[in-house]
Amino acid sequence: MREYQEQIEKKTEKPDRIICNGCGKIIAVRQGMPAEDVCSVRQAWGYLSDKDGDVDEFHLCESCYDRITKSFTVPLTRTEKTEWL
Ligand SMILES: [Zn+2]
Repeated sequence: MREYQEQIEKKTEKPDRIICNGCGKIIAVRQGMPAEDVCSVRQAWGYLSDKDGDVDEFHLCESCYDRITKSFTVPLTRTEKTEWL
């Protein structure tokens, strides 16, 4: 139980690094900003899946993102961002 509480507390803190789930690369985070762009995915599975109630989360560095998306049977859709915030 204590471990669980610590995990929750850790998740609410701002991370000082992000670890790529694809290759293990460590990406530093300074003042809330990652040192390089990262693909972050969070999937909350619903009742139409075998993982109902599970929430999956992973991060990919740009190299792993390129490697994985290039393996898609149907290529991803890429558009240019027209507005920069
Ligand atoms: Zn990676």
